[in-house]
Amino acid sequence: MAVLIDGKKLAERICAEVAREAAKLPRKPCLAAILVGDDPASEIYVRNKERDCLKCGIDSRRFDLPAGTAQEELLSLIDKLNRDGAVDGILVQLPLPEHIDESAVIDAISPDKDIDAFHPLNVGKMITGEPTLWPCTPAGIMEMFREYGISLDGKKCVMVGRSNIVGRPMGLLMLRENGTVIYCHRRTPDLAEMTRQADILVVAAGSPGLITGDMIKPGAVVIDVAMNRDPDTGKFFGDVCFDEVEKKASFITPVPGGVGPMTRAMLMKNILTAAKISLKQM
Ligand code: NAD
Repeated sequence: MAVLIDGKKLAERICAEVAREAAKLPRKPCLAAILVGDDPASEIYVRNKERDCLKCGIDSRRFDLPAGTAQEELLSLIDKLNRDGAVDGILVQLPLPEHIDESAVIDAISPDKDIDAFHPLNVGKMITGEPTLWPCTPAGIMEMFREYGISLDGKKCVMVGRSNIVGRPMGLLMLRENGTVIYCHRRTPDLAEMTRQADILVVAAGSPGLITGDMIKPGAVVIDVAMNRDPDTGKFFGDVCFDEVEKKASFITPVPGGVGPMTRAMLMKNILTAAKISLKQM
């Protein structure tokens, strides 16, 4: 039976550390969170981030803009926040309404305040290995590996999913730790052939039940990033058939309580880091 990786417990510890560190700074770190439109899921995500800030001793300012907001108006708010010395991190909740160019918005955020680490400059630094903020979900998974003593050195790491926010950066971070990385995606002809080779399997497809027990190498470490919501019960579940896979894996993350809380904790850590850099405390 696999060891359960307790993301919730680890995230609580990280948040407590962030709160302790934040209290030592000359002023509180500050997040500016921008929400465009009234998508209920985005509304919940932003509210949760505000709550996390409160718990971690971080100030948060929220900007609710109507769905019809012009791109120029959003860019001008970002410009104002870029120049505001009291704001350490700027977060624009995605997805944005269709008439707004997401790339233009990401590019407009000052790389120093880009606490989601989506800006091309930060992505480039991550590729070349320069110090920079890391995207929260992959950064949270790397923390889990460290905490549970899971080494990637020389291991075959299979990443299912290649999105800009999860799959791609996750593969890069595993490569950085000397893993041999294989990316799988919708066009991969035989997914099971790839996953069966994995010492470390990270799954972020958003496809419920995609990974079954027969697709796992005995002793593999299995990280389930997905958060699929059951429309009837409202409950979340992953891409991995947990009951089958936990019998073969050495380590496994639950959904919920695995990667999700770590993503939130790493956002708090990124805000703290941005504040420390801005306040010349590191
Ligand atoms: P996305 O839709 O942008 O990307 C999904 C990727 O999976 C694509 O590259 C696609 O090619 C691949 N894919 C989809 N179906 C596949 C299949 N059948 N076989 C092989 N590859 C397949 O999604 P995303 O933003 O990367 O998110 C993925 C999942 O992770 C979603 O369920 C999302 O809710 C979840 N997520 C969770 C967290 C967290 O903190 N836990 C954070 C971000 C995303």
